[in-house]
Amino acid sequence: MRKKLIAGNWKMNSLKSEAKALAEAVFSKAKTDMPFDMLVCPPMNVLGFVAELPHDGVFIGAQDVAETQKASGAFTGDISAQMVKDLGADWTLVGHSERRQYHGETNAIVKQKAENAINAGLTVVICIGETLNEREAGKAVEVVRNQTRECVSALANAENCVIAYEPVWAIGTGKVPTTADVAEIHAAVRDELAKVLGSEIADKMRILYGGSVKPENAKELLNVENVDGALIGGASLKADSFWAIAEAVK
Ligand code: PEP
Repeated sequence: MRKKLIAGNWKMNSLKSEAKALAEAVFSKAKTDMPFDMLVCPPMNVLGFVAELPHDGVFIGAQDVAETQKASGAFTGDISAQMVKDLGADWTLVGHSERRQYHGETNAIVKQKAENAINAGLTVVICIGETLNEREAGKAVEVVRNQTRECVSALANAENCVIAYEPVWAIGTGKVPTTADVAEIHAAVRDELAKVLGSEIADKMRILYGGSVKPENAKELLNVENVDGALIGGASLKADSFWAIAEAVK
């Protein structure tokens, strides 16, 4: 039985005072024995600060780690996975579509980042998903299968790796795929994971859905077969809506 994971991606939002208010509002409701796991991924400016607040029952993650395998060195502006760990975080996202779109990150780069995260002792959430053009061309399944195969490293297992399927056209747009489309993609991702890692690991690995998840659609999406949680952007910036989504977990 895969425990559902409710993950919030704060993106490039929150100065210190805002992060304190949001984090404290989220953390105040959390307990250590919840029927789901919870993760928040603040931006790097407040990651260490948020990780130092009492956060029983909530994991803290970064939104990205450096591509270089080095823990330190001449890589201006980069933050290594080891540095993320040192800040008190235990998780990180990699391969978010905004990283792929604005920073040219390829599947090979995403795979390297995922390996760096795992090697540093972080649990990694690898984001994948097709663009609108790819969906309209009937290529969504092929694209996510390729991304799964090319981004998931042999180091991955169900404890140190989670996949997040986020159709690019659904992120921040209010549009969501049909539940049938979500089910089709998640089944394809699990099948591809079995080819890469074997069916025992693939059966245990969590596959999240992300893209315009809101309290109103959370229950329906979280009940789709092979959907093991949600990655939430906009609605994670308000503790009430983030929790309303979490509470949709049966
Ligand atoms: C995201 O950025 O990962 C995301 C899913 O955003 P939103 O929930 O705002 O669509």
